[in-house]
Amino acid sequence: MTQIDWTRATKYFLMVDFLKGFGLGMKYFFAPKPTLNYPHEKGPLSPRFRGEHALRRYADGEERCIACKLCEAICPAQAITIDAEARDDGSRRTTRYDIDMTKCIYCGFCQEACPVEAIVEGPNFEFATETREELFYNKDRLLQNGERWEVEIARNLEMDAPYR
Ligand code: SF4
Ligand code: SF4
Repeated sequence: MTQIDWTRATKYFLMVDFLKGFGLGMKYFFAPKPTLNYPHEKGPLSPRFRGEHALRRYADGEERCIACKLCEAICPAQAITIDAEARDDGSRRTTRYDIDMTKCIYCGFCQEACPVEAIVEGPNFEFATETREELFYNKDRLLQNGERWEVEIARNLEMDAPYR
């Protein structure tokens, strides 16, 4: 004759497993949520976050970039292409500044090499595209990025300055 396991039977009868599971569910129902409702909510970003590139201007509107080409030389992915010529006033400026973002590995070397903080990797990480062509950035696009993100970029550079 089969023996009845009374301990197990009592557990089933009192729905112990169900109540334990229900209790666990309730615990996490009321606990603070670690998930974010992206894109409506976003997590904090480090000032050192290396996102989409931007070319910056000075406060008077003048381009920072002096066409020294250090960023082009140091880029391990050879993603940057620069042409330059002298202006009438003798200053040197780029006539072409392209970044092939499909090649870029977001190493940040271009930003590190730049003596005037012209090329920077800003805080924007939402620049996915549907075509490769949209990721071939030219100077106008990079300067537009600079204008759009200047406040955040300047704040991040200032926050990171004491550690450099
Ligand atoms: S982040 Fe690195 S790979 Fe990308 S453009 Fe700058 S130097 Fe090149
Ligand atoms: S972005 Fe900076 S490193 Fe690159 S060419 Fe201009 S001044 Fe030189």
